[in-house]
Amino acid sequence: MADCIFCKIAAGDIPAQVVWQDEHAVAFRDIRPQAPVHVVFIPRRHVVSFAHVTSADGPFLGSLGVGLRAVAEAEGIAETGFRVLSNNGPHGGQEVAHLHVHLLGGRPLGPMLRQEVGVSRSAGTRGSDEARRRIP
Ligand code: 5GP
Ligand code: ZN
Repeated sequence: MADCIFCKIAAGDIPAQVVWQDEHAVAFRDIRPQAPVHVVFIPRRHVVSFAHVTSADGPFLGSLGVGLRAVAEAEGIAETGFRVLSNNGPHGGQEVAHLHVHLLGGRPLGPMLRQEVGVSRSAGTRGSDEARRRIP
């Protein structure tokens, strides 16, 4: 898609440190790494998020699993462990509107979410305020 930064990376029009790729997916190092290993996996096909996935994306999802394993092994984090996460839509904090999955590792990553994030559906308003009050 025109004006999509990840489409441009997939097409090779914008440089990126590609660490793995196949017919359906490309994996490259995140430009602002949040862990010693921080690799982003994208489908070559423009898909906005997991909220837009259809059966046409099946080949990508298969490639994703194989690629995650391959990169985790190549980066030496398959045994020590790693985190796989995907931000989707406004509440998910998605910044780039082309489906992507982060592979993070190389150090203990701590809890999945910051402790002050509430679990109620109103998190960000009442839920997070209540949670924050409980944390010294
Ligand atoms: P999101 O917050 O949407 O889940 O993640 C987008 C990620 O893409 C961010 O971690 C950001 O650092 C990364 N990113 C954004 N633009 C570029 C780019 O041009 N090159 C690379 N390698 N990573 C990018
Ligand atoms: Zn795109």
